[in-house]
Amino acid sequence: MKESSGRKQGVASPCAACKLLRRRCTHDCVFSPYFPADEPHKFASVHKVFGASNVNKMLQELPEHQRGDAVSSMVYEANARVRDPVYGCVGAISSLQQQIDVLQTQLAYAQAEVVHMRMRQLENASPSSRDLQSRRAKSHFNMDMVVDQDNMDTSLWP
Ligand SMILES: [Zn+2]
Repeated sequence: MKESSGRKQGVASPCAACKLLRRRCTHDCVFSPYFPADEPHKFASVHKVFGASNVNKMLQELPEHQRGDAVSSMVYEANARVRDPVYGCVGAISSLQQQIDVLQTQLAYAQAEVVHMRMRQLENASPSSRDLQSRRAKSHFNMDMVVDQDNMDTSLWP
């Protein structure tokens, strides 16, 4: 659908690439499906960074089903290079890598804290469970005494 509208535009008015390059946009223009006339900034930045003839060569070398992805990748890379002329995409990658490092450190701290809290929970739980066990033992002993007394009573006073 996108391709057909691009071709229709190519016939009626030149695509963004041909308009910028001031050339006639033919029906088999390699740029027209990917650089529609209503998005002139896309081709402008790609042309500025890679050069129109290089973009043309890259698109010609690719099978048609991969050209759309290649164009969006080139547009992304070109925009990154325009924003950050020194590092381009590498700037974005390294800043994301730094965020990953910071978050992994935070995660390690949080996991260590969880382990620490579990250990403390176990330390606090064990004396109270020992208490509970001894209390249970005591009440069991008392009950035995009562039962014994009852037995004694019945045996002594029939
Ligand atoms: Zn064109």
